[in-house]
Amino acid sequence: MNENLFIALMASGDDAGRVAIELPDGRRVRYDELDELAAGYAAALEAVGTQPGDRVVAVLAKSVHAIAAYLATLRAGAVFVPINPSYTTTELAYFISDAQPAVVLCAPARADELAAACERADATMLTADADGAGTLAEAAARATARPVVPRGRDDLAAILYTSGTTGRSKGAMLTHGNLAANAETLRAQWRFSCDDTLVHALPVFHTHGLFVGINVSFLARATVLLLPRFEVASLADALRRATVLMGVPTYYSRLLEVPDLRERASSIRLFVSGSAPLLAETHRAWAARTGHAILERYGMTETTMLTSNPIDGERRPGTVGRPLPGVELRLAEPNAQGIGSIQVRGPNVFVGYWGLPERSAAEFTDDGFFITGDLGRIDADGYVEIVGREKDLVITGGYNVYPKEVELVLDAVDGVGESAVFGVPDADLGERVIAAIVPASPTAPTADDLDAHLAEHLARYKRPHDYVVLPALPRNVMGKVQKNELRTRYSSDDG
Ligand code: ATP
Ligand code: MG
Repeated sequence: MNENLFIALMASGDDAGRVAIELPDGRRVRYDELDELAAGYAAALEAVGTQPGDRVVAVLAKSVHAIAAYLATLRAGAVFVPINPSYTTTELAYFISDAQPAVVLCAPARADELAAACERADATMLTADADGAGTLAEAAARATARPVVPRGRDDLAAILYTSGTTGRSKGAMLTHGNLAANAETLRAQWRFSCDDTLVHALPVFHTHGLFVGINVSFLARATVLLLPRFEVASLADALRRATVLMGVPTYYSRLLEVPDLRERASSIRLFVSGSAPLLAETHRAWAARTGHAILERYGMTETTMLTSNPIDGERRPGTVGRPLPGVELRLAEPNAQGIGSIQVRGPNVFVGYWGLPERSAAEFTDDGFFITGDLGRIDADGYVEIVGREKDLVITGGYNVYPKEVELVLDAVDGVGESAVFGVPDADLGERVIAAIVPASPTAPTADDLDAHLAEHLARYKRPHDYVVLPALPRNVMGKVQKNELRTRYSSDDG
């Protein structure tokens, strides 16, 4: 049996005439049209010599053509490697040399800039702009479509680079079986159907936008309303044409500033949040404004999705729900408060990091669980709470400080919009606790006010040694707070 994920994602028979992608200007692309576009691009990849298992690096603007390039790569049995198109030449050159692709897909405007990197990797360059114009389409017009390349569930479908929040991005190798298992589980759990329209404002080079947003929608023969990027006004307008929104927490906190939210959301049946922690406060404010409980879920590049709050039943603010069917999740060495290191096993878990065999081996236990690097706690009903990343744990004077615990107390102080707690090297204590505060109003609370409040709630060793006031927390495109950047910025040389 051909287990190529492409077959599961593309509609056939009666469903082929359904709309796969709708664009903000009202243009629509049916499944059969997308299928034909992908068949042409697959033929173009094959015509330039792409073999099954070869990597295809895609540095493409979010568009129908970028999605067709993803589908085409699967169809040709090659391995899709999407990269953030906003990276600089130097950054892209690194990923191209790391992935050693047979083909690099990029915008015609970047062809000159990337020529040298392609040459060094011995990769063929094909170009496509956001409207599809370029050498990829030209090669497709000359080539003859071939059948979908047979793939087994253990064959690689994609290498997806992690977000680089804790260090250099690693290429997670994901198989056709990994992606199919997760998409099918989510489709069933979130009851996606051909009646759904997903508002899609996420990037398509990350697991959330590509393997959750696109795969789950296509598997269900739903329609994806493809917005080129996140922008609050167009997102707020798109809600009226849709049934589901998948977003990072920033989408929700920004949408809360929009008037008529309840009316705008009246056709929506499901709001999903992930990729970064959703504040319980945002969850509650959203429910008050729209009548909807946001469904928070948790996952990562290496594993796709791991846990989800339920479609029926209680969606608990501040938790990411229970492990998805088929996912085994356990806490290693829980401490007295029940906080332990999250380890997972299941058909969705990746096979290793590209080109990093030792690193891959080190991050799996002897019994085959992946060590996620996240710390969590599980309540009596099985709901998982993400406490933070192991790398963000601060050890000060021999005591463990969990930043999230301190952040929750700080966020509750009047005048604090949000906060980020992190450790910096300290000659005496090992690490010192710093809190970055974003004020909610023009007059920020003083360090003394904050300290007085914290003293009521937290033991002395957990309280920040220093406070810094920032206009905004440094965040990446997925809304993740860049604590690495904060640590670097506030580390003094004495550490
Ligand atoms: P890198 O691995 O390169 O340092 P990264 O871990 O940020 O970067 P991703 O795979 O994009 O790269 O992100 C996965 C991480 O995002 C998880 O390990 C977890 O820390 C965080 N995360 C995802 N969903 C949630 C959530 N709902 N709540 C809290 N954290 C989340
Ligand atoms: Mg990670």
